[in-house]
Amino acid sequence: MYQREPSQATSTTNLGHFIGGQMVNRSTRTLSIEDPATAKTIGIVELADSSTVDEAVNVAQQTFPEWRYTPPAKRARVMFKFKQLLEDNADEICNLITQEHGKTLEDARGELQRGIEVVEYACGIPELLKGEHTPSVGTNIDSWSQFQPLGVAAGITPFNFPAMVPMWMYPIALACGNTFVLKPSELDPSASMFCAWLLQDSGLPDGAFNIVNGDREAVDALLANPTVQSVSFVGSTPVAEHVYVTGTKNGKRVQALGGAKNHAIVMPDADIDQAANATLGAAYGSCGERCMAISVAICVGEQTATDFIGHLKQGLSKLRVDSGSSPSSDMGPLISHRHLTRVRDYIDVGIEEGAELVVDGRDLVVSGHENGHFLGPCLFDHVTPAMRIYQEEIFGPVLCIVRAQTQEEAMKIVDEHPYGNGTCIFTRDGEAAHFFAENIKIGMVGINVPLPVPAAVHSFGGWKRSLFGDLAAYGPDAVRFYTRRKTITERWPAGGVREQARFSFPS
Ligand code: NAD
Repeated sequence: MYQREPSQATSTTNLGHFIGGQMVNRSTRTLSIEDPATAKTIGIVELADSSTVDEAVNVAQQTFPEWRYTPPAKRARVMFKFKQLLEDNADEICNLITQEHGKTLEDARGELQRGIEVVEYACGIPELLKGEHTPSVGTNIDSWSQFQPLGVAAGITPFNFPAMVPMWMYPIALACGNTFVLKPSELDPSASMFCAWLLQDSGLPDGAFNIVNGDREAVDALLANPTVQSVSFVGSTPVAEHVYVTGTKNGKRVQALGGAKNHAIVMPDADIDQAANATLGAAYGSCGERCMAISVAICVGEQTATDFIGHLKQGLSKLRVDSGSSPSSDMGPLISHRHLTRVRDYIDVGIEEGAELVVDGRDLVVSGHENGHFLGPCLFDHVTPAMRIYQEEIFGPVLCIVRAQTQEEAMKIVDEHPYGNGTCIFTRDGEAAHFFAENIKIGMVGINVPLPVPAAVHSFGGWKRSLFGDLAAYGPDAVRFYTRRKTITERWPAGGVREQARFSFPS
């Protein structure tokens, strides 16, 4: 658990909120933070009520004029400095991520790097905010547009990327001139608290970036607060839908990214060894707790399935499960006992539904971490689209194999799934790959790339029930999301020329 002064950090220290440039303790409701590898309490986080949320929003609103009128080039300099401090403090941030989330340190480094890339993008804000100018749209009339910040922007984030997903939001929102209130996941809040101090050290005015720790109560208070202009949400689909419906009803601009069930299609001509290795990382990395994790592989043809499963089983026999801080670990624990129980329940459901559990990780015990929330990798074969383990997001180290006879049949299965975040095809056939990319009804598509997470210069967003709203996260969409276009038409009449009143529409 992170405190500004490391010497103050004890297992009973309350992590409060970050408001107006300092950590404040306000709440009587609290939650224990666990190390998922040991199930031991490593800290306590406060859970904000609506008065604390309103306090943070008011501070952000009061800071808005100062930050909004700070020239974009100066705002960019804060981002340059922030990027440097993130790199200088990467080890400490990654240790916090691993301690509270459980993922391996190497995985935490990858997450932080992807977050830093969004900060790098935000460094280009003077260029990104350039408006459009047209001289002489009419006689003596010029027209230009500019992109103005919204005001107070809010972000609500999930547990699975405690540093990166918040960084999908606040660097671009701040660079655009907004002030920000972040509500991180209550399960692993420390990485964001650390970043709040780094932003302050980067020269961001106090009050421009605030954190309220909390749960549903804090989220509902943000959605109800009339000063909050926009809400960016990332999390599960039921909550994303609630946030989208309530936020838009309350007049806010909302982007709400939800859950996923990402399919890989394995074609008969694919390099099966390469496809299996890529799928292993994409399905079991971070214990399957990624919104872009491959959770279904559709094998086209019986022989493809036999070969692919053979390679997967071989790879899984070598996969090392251990605490995320162990240098030899490939996969750490799940986030909580509650989530472990949920994933194990899905395995029981799959067996009851008639799927064949060809790799069973339920008996795994990690020596020295017997109480940790560990589950070994699980692989189901003969899964059908009618089964719950196919339809619902499991969010654990569980891969489902579905069999199809043709590419068209496989693509139809993908298209009919209600989620539409990411997908991938493994093939050596350019025509098959092109047909797939052109026609599949999914937001992010990989060709021999199992985790097609767009680079920071593009935007991240799924289709169907994986994204509510029109604009995706980070990249150019985020610049549009966090700004309002204003178009100005101006005329400076030439000296002495007087116009008569005209009652027809100006043309
Ligand atoms: P979650 O929906 O439980 O929580 C997300 C956020 O919402 C948290 O800050 C939480 O405090 C808050 N919250 C939880 N329940 C709420 C409620 N009833 N009302 C209001 N707020 C509530 O999600 P999670 O378990 O933290 O994260 C995992 C989920 O996030 C998975 O479904 C995963 O697919 C999804 N996810 C999606 C993306 C994406 O880009 N589409 C990225 C990462 C994670």
